[in-house]
Amino acid sequence: MSYLALYRKYRPRVFDDVVGQEHIVRTLTNQINTNRVAHAYLFCGSRGTGKTSIAKIFARAVNCEHPVNGSACGVCDACQKVQDGSGINIIEMDAASHNGVDNIREINEEVKYTPAVGKYKIYIIDEVHMLSTGAFNALLKTLEEPPAHVIFILATTDPQKIPVTILSRCQRFDFKRIAAKEIQDRLNIYMKEENIDIEDKALAYIAKLADGGMRDALSILEQSISFYFDETITLDKVLYLVGAVDSSILFDMIYAIIAQDTKKALELCEAVNAMGRSIRQFASDLLEHSRNLLIAKTTNGMASVLDYSSEYIKALQKQAEAISVNELMRYIKHFGQLEYELRNAISPRILLEVAMLKLSEIQMDTSAESMMTKIQFLEQKLDKLAEEGLKAAPIMAVASVVSSKEVIPARLPKAIPEDVRQLIKKWPEIKLKLGRAAWSIFETAEAGFVEDDIFYVVYKEGMDAPVSAHLEELKKVINEVAGKEVKVKPIEADDYATKCIEVYGSNPKQTEDIKDISSVIKNVAAKINFNIEIKN
Ligand SMILES: [Zn+2]
Repeated sequence: MSYLALYRKYRPRVFDDVVGQEHIVRTLTNQINTNRVAHAYLFCGSRGTGKTSIAKIFARAVNCEHPVNGSACGVCDACQKVQDGSGINIIEMDAASHNGVDNIREINEEVKYTPAVGKYKIYIIDEVHMLSTGAFNALLKTLEEPPAHVIFILATTDPQKIPVTILSRCQRFDFKRIAAKEIQDRLNIYMKEENIDIEDKALAYIAKLADGGMRDALSILEQSISFYFDETITLDKVLYLVGAVDSSILFDMIYAIIAQDTKKALELCEAVNAMGRSIRQFASDLLEHSRNLLIAKTTNGMASVLDYSSEYIKALQKQAEAISVNELMRYIKHFGQLEYELRNAISPRILLEVAMLKLSEIQMDTSAESMMTKIQFLEQKLDKLAEEGLKAAPIMAVASVVSSKEVIPARLPKAIPEDVRQLIKKWPEIKLKLGRAAWSIFETAEAGFVEDDIFYVVYKEGMDAPVSAHLEELKKVINEVAGKEVKVKPIEADDYATKCIEVYGSNPKQTEDIKDISSVIKNVAAKINFNIEIKN
């Protein structure tokens, strides 16, 4: 007998075999039993959750003459023809490799003809999000008025990429990741059938690693069985085979963060993405890894706390030695937050990358946890300076370290002229954010703009001293409101009016933009009794 891969051997043939998608199975079997099938379905969900399997079970069932529990009977004429291959009414297309408009046009031509056997022709288009725009438009034509004998099942891992016009014409089913326990129980049944000796712990680990996908679970299992042929499969063996590969990325990532090697951290993000692993799972693995490191760092009798192989625990201890407890707390906080944010994220990869940036570039992290690291960094730097003979001038050393670039928190982007133009309108808001003393100084001042990136603070004559005394506070508030680094320049009203005339002439053009500025000039002109002509 030829060997059949586990995932093919145990691919569900009827709805009763399907694991973990009860909500979908129930709806579909009800539709078949009551003869109320739709003409277009969209199956969404991550890989290995059973989209194509269910699509095929459904396709066979809708053509069966006497369905049993909503699934094909396997004995009627139509079922026989499907099995011997003479009734070609289930057509599968992989949109990853057939994504052009011509591929869809071909289908549009075919759907006109009624099926040779059975009631329906079923088109299963896998990875439908890969279709080109032209192909989607062509598909839409058929979906708008599908012939009565045609059913489309569109399967995708990425529903966000599908045009709304297509979505609105499909009945949508969201396939959930299968719970690890459900996968484990099912694997257990298969292993008994196959007469394979495997530890429960090993099965539990494989189920967890599969991340909700039955197909992945079966292929990891398959690998383990072939590698340890005729041996008892233990957790240690499975860890060696797969876990070691998988967790090495976790170790590498933490080492990259410790070394503040942003480039490496981002490369690892890219690698995880390229492997097609769930980013949320990766975040939760990093969280668990950090927690393990913390345990490794703070406890001795580790084996009882951590359910891992002895080599793995050794590697954990080694890595834990390179990090402080505070640093680990910072990782745990960030990974926990990342995991939470990823729950509803549309762009998980970007969130992952931002988190890695914050972790691997300490100056980008403004959290309280990062302060300890920054302080430790300062202490180390001080020690180093002291060794270099700066013992005599510790305060100078502190000053030089504090002012060094590495510890300055994230710098704001620089404001461009358009930012300044917009900011002028927020002058009243800026003033309200000032402390009482500063407010009383700037209350009578105006904000000005003359086509460059400088935010002019226009003040009355004779106010030089109080203005410069409160300038720092004003600058801080302006940057806060703008979210940018703004060049702020105090200027006396008549100097400002002169500047305006230089830039705009005494007769500024009537544009929307100038209007705001002209009112400023007018106010200023009125205050200093300067005669400036502005047409309204
Ligand atoms: Zn049948």
